[in-house]
Amino acid sequence: MERVLIIGGVAGGATTAARLRRNREDLEIILFEKGNDISYANCGLPYYIGGEIKERDALFVQTPDAFGKKFNIDVRVRNEVTNIDTSAKIVTVRNIETGEEYNEIYDKLVLSPGALPVLPPIQGITLDKVFTLRNVSDTDKIKNELEKREIKKAVVVGAGFIGLEMAENLHNLGIRTSIVELGPQVMPPLDFEIASVIHQHIKMKNVELFLNDGVAKFEEKGDGITVTLGSGKTIYADMVVLSIGVRANNELAKKSGIKVGATGGIEVNSYLQTSDENVYAVGDAIEFENPIIKKNVITYLAGPANKQGRIAADNIAFGNKREYKGAINTAIAKVFDMTAASTGVCEKALDRNGMDRATVITHSGSHAGYYPGALQMSMKIIFDKETGRVFGGQIAGYEGVDKRIDLLATVVKNGGTIYDLQEIEHAYAPPYSSAKDPVNIAGFAAENIIEGRLNVVNWYDVAKFKERNALIMDVRTDEEFKIDRIPGAVNVPLDTVRERISEFDKEKEILIYCGVGLRGYIASRIFIQNGFTKVYNLNGGLKTYENCIVEQSNVDIFVNEKAADAKELLSNPAENLSEAKRDNVKKLVVDACGLQCPGPIMKLKSAADEMQAGDLLEIKASDPGFYKDSESWCRVTGNKLVSIESEKGVIKAVIEKGGNVGKADKKDVSYDEKTIVVFSDDLDRALASFVIANGAASMGKKVTMFFTFWGLNVVKKTASVPVEKDMMGKMFGWMLPSSSKELKLSKMNMMGLGTKMMRDRMNTKKVDSLEKMIDAAMKNGVKFIGCQMSMDIMGVKAEELLDGVEIGGVASYLERAEQSNVNLFI
Ligand code: FAD
Repeated sequence: MERVLIIGGVAGGATTAARLRRNREDLEIILFEKGNDISYANCGLPYYIGGEIKERDALFVQTPDAFGKKFNIDVRVRNEVTNIDTSAKIVTVRNIETGEEYNEIYDKLVLSPGALPVLPPIQGITLDKVFTLRNVSDTDKIKNELEKREIKKAVVVGAGFIGLEMAENLHNLGIRTSIVELGPQVMPPLDFEIASVIHQHIKMKNVELFLNDGVAKFEEKGDGITVTLGSGKTIYADMVVLSIGVRANNELAKKSGIKVGATGGIEVNSYLQTSDENVYAVGDAIEFENPIIKKNVITYLAGPANKQGRIAADNIAFGNKREYKGAINTAIAKVFDMTAASTGVCEKALDRNGMDRATVITHSGSHAGYYPGALQMSMKIIFDKETGRVFGGQIAGYEGVDKRIDLLATVVKNGGTIYDLQEIEHAYAPPYSSAKDPVNIAGFAAENIIEGRLNVVNWYDVAKFKERNALIMDVRTDEEFKIDRIPGAVNVPLDTVRERISEFDKEKEILIYCGVGLRGYIASRIFIQNGFTKVYNLNGGLKTYENCIVEQSNVDIFVNEKAADAKELLSNPAENLSEAKRDNVKKLVVDACGLQCPGPIMKLKSAADEMQAGDLLEIKASDPGFYKDSESWCRVTGNKLVSIESEKGVIKAVIEKGGNVGKADKKDVSYDEKTIVVFSDDLDRALASFVIANGAASMGKKVTMFFTFWGLNVVKKTASVPVEKDMMGKMFGWMLPSSSKELKLSKMNMMGLGTKMMRDRMNTKKVDSLEKMIDAAMKNGVKFIGCQMSMDIMGVKAEELLDGVEIGGVASYLERAEQSNVNLFI
């Protein structure tokens, strides 16, 4: 009887065995598994540890006995294959229970030995409080530890999909959890823009996150363990779970002369045959050509392992007829309330392989905004600029991520294009999707780029545009702009673009942005159709920009138990009511879920307008930006944020009308800003103002300069701008300096000689000129506000001031001054 031996009894091995039997009753099949179990659900292990999967038995798809009987297979658990003699077609097996060694001959052999956890030579890595998670016995050890001792604090090392699943499950058990990741982001298959969404979510969940910091050593300390990071920081924990990655289990293959490739995976042909024609291999242990980058890679995923098992079994049973086409690495993981998923190749990987591409980032609702419960998802599509072929896609969101990633995966797998994305005919009814599904929208947006209807730039390009002194234009509403913006941007709400278009210079670069990219696209089209050629739209809008530039880590939150305090602070609205009577408080409930920016803030404002001081407003929104926006809105408008929480993607804020009037609430104010009122247009005073402003900005402080009366002359454009002025305006114009270049010293001016001497002297001493200092301040993110009232009196027009100077009233200045601990009048 023909004999097939299989090494490894889980995803790839068990599938091969079952399919072989279904194919051929006449084969003798022996399955060797060195562990206790076969065909178990590795993917469910973190959820069993966290208690989501209640019964241990649920992890076992099959027991060895039942599997053996059902398929007439000789299943030998706790039997490890230790050698393969490919020329004699004999394997040597060690019975782990008895220590006995024996040989078995084969006609065909299948290798499915999986992967092994990476264990770098870090001091203390073998301590008994350091765990890895690969199989059921690892799971039992962790579970046992959690039951045996009181575990208050855990560290998960490695922020891949499994590391994050473990972090969530430990956190759900009430354990303070820290994640330590050597790289700059979680989940390597994601690009930074999508990973940053996950970082912000992890922060919200009060999980500590160390990025760009690896483990230097583990040391036992009392009942626990200290984890010392590369940065020198030390974290104390009761236990550590290592999830730094895996490598192909290739030892047996290497030892037997079976070829192993450059990645460490066993080499196979398209029939999944190794370098020895009688030996097939499947699963985590093999490398195979990725159909996009055309290089061999290892895919550590259950789906491909199962599919390969089926193909290998068919080829063994009926001769080599079925070919494997390679995996595109479609993966998904639940990360607290969010889902992160990816398919195909990420931008970073294309970069590493020198492949050109374009990208589009969209933020769409999981279903129609007008039907309750729509939640936002951020999607990035990577595609060929010329042909539109989709190389990959990534999504982070709360609902419907699985269905969209599968649509993308189908297109990527079939070599489809962004035009295919547009044509996907999805099932639509309001509770499930929109008439234009997020994948259609991504396709439409990508087409605009390919067809040259839109120039898209990315969040990391903004700094370059600022350096080139481009005009950064925010086309959101005035309300939104007040709350938040890119420093130096001017506000031109979309509805005013057409009437104001003549104000702008066609020769100047204009970087347009809005909340998520849609209004920016509309504004760009207006400019482009009016003959502007240097117009660019920010990919993913302010949402992506802010996610990427804010702090990504979440460190030291357990020092002094800050996290717990913060949670309590925000979860007890009754305690936080200021003057409001706790009983009989009028409460208005507003649902802004499903609305994209500026919807939630507009709803918040109109609801607040209807309320009396002391009334409460409970507002729910699904736009993730609302978490930050509602805080800023309260700060700016003198209302009080009583509580804010996020649950399954819905942000619920409780706001007390007028609760902050007349007082700066220390919890909401950073006190780390500096404000300078520039009243004088004396050269020396202007210089002093900018020396201080630049110094503070370079120390990471937020600086606002308020130019009023004569100070306005400091920030006038050097080139004269033709503007309409009344008689008084014209007279002021003749008498006042026309720009910073005409400013004079307050003392020793000596008919201009002193001023010239000062400028020369600064030049010799290599001190930047005033103009260079002004430029540097703009680039450093210093906020310039021109006083509206002084401008009216003196007839100074907005167009005469440097690009980037915002026009504001005293309220804009006071709002910043209230948050400052230094306020200078010069
Ligand atoms: P495995 O399933 O690992 O099986 C290999 C088996 O071979 C092991 O049981 C091993 O004991 C045995 N073996 C090795 N050498 C020998 C020998 N010499 N003799 C006898 N037996 C031997 N993938 C997903 O797609 N989605 C997920 O959500 C997901 N979650 C995961 C969660 C965890 C905690 C883990 C550990 C993995 C997860 N994976 C997930 C990955 C997925 O489980 C693997 O890709 C898949 O199991 C690989 O199948 P395989 O047959 O190659 O290896």
